[in-house]
Amino acid sequence: MRAAIYHGPRDVRIERRPIPEPAAGEVLVRIDAALTDGTDAKCYRSGHPLLLGPPPSPFGHEYAGTVAAVGSGCTLRPGTRVAGANSAPCGACDHCRAGRQSLCVQLLPLLNGAYAEYLLVPARIASVNLHSIDDDLDAATAAMCEPLACALHAVEAAGAEAGDSICVLGRGALGQMLATILRGRGCAVTQVASADADPAPASDRVIEAAGTAAAWQRAVRLVRAGGTVVLFGGLPGSTEVPFDAYRLHYEAIILRGVFHHAPRHIRAALDLLATDRAAFRSLLTHTFALDDVAVPLEMTCGLRPREGLLKAIVRP
Ligand SMILES: [Zn+2]
Repeated sequence: MRAAIYHGPRDVRIERRPIPEPAAGEVLVRIDAALTDGTDAKCYRSGHPLLLGPPPSPFGHEYAGTVAAVGSGCTLRPGTRVAGANSAPCGACDHCRAGRQSLCVQLLPLLNGAYAEYLLVPARIASVNLHSIDDDLDAATAAMCEPLACALHAVEAAGAEAGDSICVLGRGALGQMLATILRGRGCAVTQVASADADPAPASDRVIEAAGTAAAWQRAVRLVRAGGTVVLFGGLPGSTEVPFDAYRLHYEAIILRGVFHHAPRHIRAALDLLATDRAAFRSLLTHTFALDDVAVPLEMTCGLRPREGLLKAIVRP
């Protein structure tokens, strides 16, 4: 099969690899659509501490496809169309038992290899976080279940309820997903870019989805006294961000960090995509062949003109 292999920053090669054979519990998925995202683009530009193992590494983690073969003990049948996550929690560690599965001590390594003709899904992901999809849900839309699950996790952490005023900082694909979810729940949503030039009123809750230190600071400036700020866009390790201590203390502002998703968010994301697909399908602005996978990654991380790209579909 043909697969995009990450050899290091700005070095992704299309190579021939053997089609994997599923062992017990594993599922071999023929990829129908993979999607690019900001994390893959960060990886492409400068590497990433969590997403990929040591290079050369399979690459790409948002996918939907068709079951091609299964190992013993799998309930999914060949020919079933599926979409899934890039991890699955163990269900047994302290964090998992407390419902904080995104902190599972066995979450890593994350699954990569969606930019390929076939992806071997490990047994735990196959049993927990790989789901069949409806015949009328196209693969590219279904592949959004992973980033949408992250967005649903952030909305959950924000405690957003109908009638709340909420500011979403960031206009990328995740920012658009957050705004769409929140409007659907009856929140009054303001969406702004990270720069201060984009004015915004103070809100009950703020979700930062721009992934810059300046946006983290701005998120705290934009929340009302007593409000909650969700810090959603990851920053490089050792980054230190100064905040106004007066605001945090005397105005009782809650800061919450959010990363990744739990199985409940993957299921909820697939339900949401099945019922409200048009709103999310519009975020898939471009399509590329596997050979050209580096192009949308370069567009996303600023190495090429962006040309309105939010997310790109990669077809093997
Ligand atoms: Zn666990």
